[in-house]
Amino acid sequence: MAVMASEQAAGGVPFRHPPEQAPLDAAAVVDLDELDALVTTCRACPRLVAWREEVARVKRAAFRDQEYWGRPVPGFGPHDASILIVGLAPAAHGANRTGRMFTGDRSGEVLYAAMHAVGLASRPVAVWRDDGLELYGTRISAPVRCAPPANKPTPDERHRCAPFLARELELLGGTVRVVVVLGGFGWQALMASLMDAGWLVPRPRPRFGHGARVRIAHRDGRMLDVLGCFHVSQQNTFTGRLTPAMVEEVLAKAKQLAGVGTDD
Ligand code: SF4
Repeated sequence: MAVMASEQAAGGVPFRHPPEQAPLDAAAVVDLDELDALVTTCRACPRLVAWREEVARVKRAAFRDQEYWGRPVPGFGPHDASILIVGLAPAAHGANRTGRMFTGDRSGEVLYAAMHAVGLASRPVAVWRDDGLELYGTRISAPVRCAPPANKPTPDERHRCAPFLARELELLGGTVRVVVVLGGFGWQALMASLMDAGWLVPRPRPRFGHGARVRIAHRDGRMLDVLGCFHVSQQNTFTGRLTPAMVEEVLAKAKQLAGVGTDD
């Protein structure tokens, strides 16, 4: 098969496929720096590429002086994280603007405040990708890396993007002990990625719910706890379906199960 060299990996080696086929390179990247570099080059979903770039060009009036990121958003957090938080997809004027997961939008205000409250983030506020915010023992990612119109990726788009999360799980495999999933869509996507990464997901697949907890074994004997949490979207937080205390409770449970902050 004829292939073209694409953008440079973090180590300077060109990726094998062009940006329109970037997910095909996910399985070959050797670390999270390379994976993050690969993700940001991807142009595999024509509808999402057009949307993310259109949003970045037109902008929201309040942000018209800012240069939007307008690209796929990589994971955020340490490479030896024990907890992985999985959302849905970047928000058009949040992560698609700032270039970092849950940064610069109302959902992120709730999530980072809760993370800070339980000791998983250095600050309660996230405004921009280089604002100095640090996460402790925790990485944040998503099954779809580009902002979708109406926050709804198609099944094809979800499927196309899945290799990135699957590889992220593999590369975190040595340390990650708990995954917190925000919302039912992320839950379904995570279960598919876990199966791809060698985790023995029960059948029928475990159902999502706020407070749900599932323990999943890997073929190599590792164990993973997966916790469900309603998504931190305005739809949930404005209606009171999800309160800050509920988010903190799930994150505190994740911290306890993963042993974050108890090693020394
Ligand atoms: S959603 Fe994923 S697969 Fe599709 S263009 Fe964005 S990064 Fe690539």
